[in-house]
Amino acid sequence: MKTASTSYNNIKNWYYRNISVRLVKALQKRGFSATYFANIDSLKRALLKKIPRSASIGIGGSVTIRELGIIEKFEKRGNKVIHHWKKGLTEETDREVRLQEARADYYLTSANAITLSGDIINIDGVGNRVAATIYGPKSVIIVAGFNKIVSSIDEGMKRSKHIAGVMNAKRVGAKTPCAQTGICVDCNAQQRICRVTTILQYRPWQTDITVLLVNKELGF
Ligand code: SF4
Repeated sequence: MKTASTSYNNIKNWYYRNISVRLVKALQKRGFSATYFANIDSLKRALLKKIPRSASIGIGGSVTIRELGIIEKFEKRGNKVIHHWKKGLTEETDREVRLQEARADYYLTSANAITLSGDIINIDGVGNRVAATIYGPKSVIIVAGFNKIVSSIDEGMKRSKHIAGVMNAKRVGAKTPCAQTGICVDCNAQQRICRVTTILQYRPWQTDITVLLVNKELGF
């Protein structure tokens, strides 16, 4: 017999599958490759299959990619994985690593928000992640959970600051009002982390960008 919670979960799955499938079509119309995955395991299997063992992989500043638990799997099977979320990097090394990430064969990251029409929105503090998403790596793979899907650019901009920005400020321990209160006040703080905004409206020419949507809440 179905319990109430099973049936609630079925409805949630149905809803997010429907909007994700709709978004896949919208992204394809904008020139991106896009695929929907029903769960994390099938997504991880596809990623491990898509990226050859010989390829180098740059990882952008992304909680989503870390939550997948796939970085270790790539490293274990011999991929050269480049990422700057390491303790003790000097300023010079950190800059060098970020540049290397953007020159990798594959660049894995997420987005702060994706509209149902296929606009991919990101806000960065340094700008290396958004720069690498636009130009540099041979291929870019954007992984996004259903929590990143929004109805409009306006909503996406709000999400990028009021949810992703606030949580990221807390994550890095920024001295910003939001990291204290949990609320974005569009601050003017010296350590403001929201400094560069990009909207990928169509796949830029000469790039190879794939968006993988998964029926799971992931990242900030
Ligand atoms: S308060 Fe400042 S740093 Fe925090 S999310 Fe808003 S703009 Fe970004």
